[in-house]
Amino acid sequence: MMKEKRELFCNACGKKIRIENGILREDVFEGKKVWGYFSDKDAVYHSFILCEECYDKMISGFSIPVEETAVTELI
Ligand SMILES: [Zn+2]
Repeated sequence: MMKEKRELFCNACGKKIRIENGILREDVFEGKKVWGYFSDKDAVYHSFILCEECYDKMISGFSIPVEETAVTELI
């Protein structure tokens, strides 16, 4: 889970994500990646969040659409 933060912003548009009592009131995309050896970013940890709007914008630019699987129960 996401580290508890007082304030959270979408990395793309800078929008403030609504948090009440430490709980996210809207769903966001969390990107996390430790870049390894075979990258140009030797062992650097990247993380960002995207609001749903920016996430939709990002995936709309994909050549191959995201895989979609219906989940019956949210984890
Ligand atoms: Zn955004």
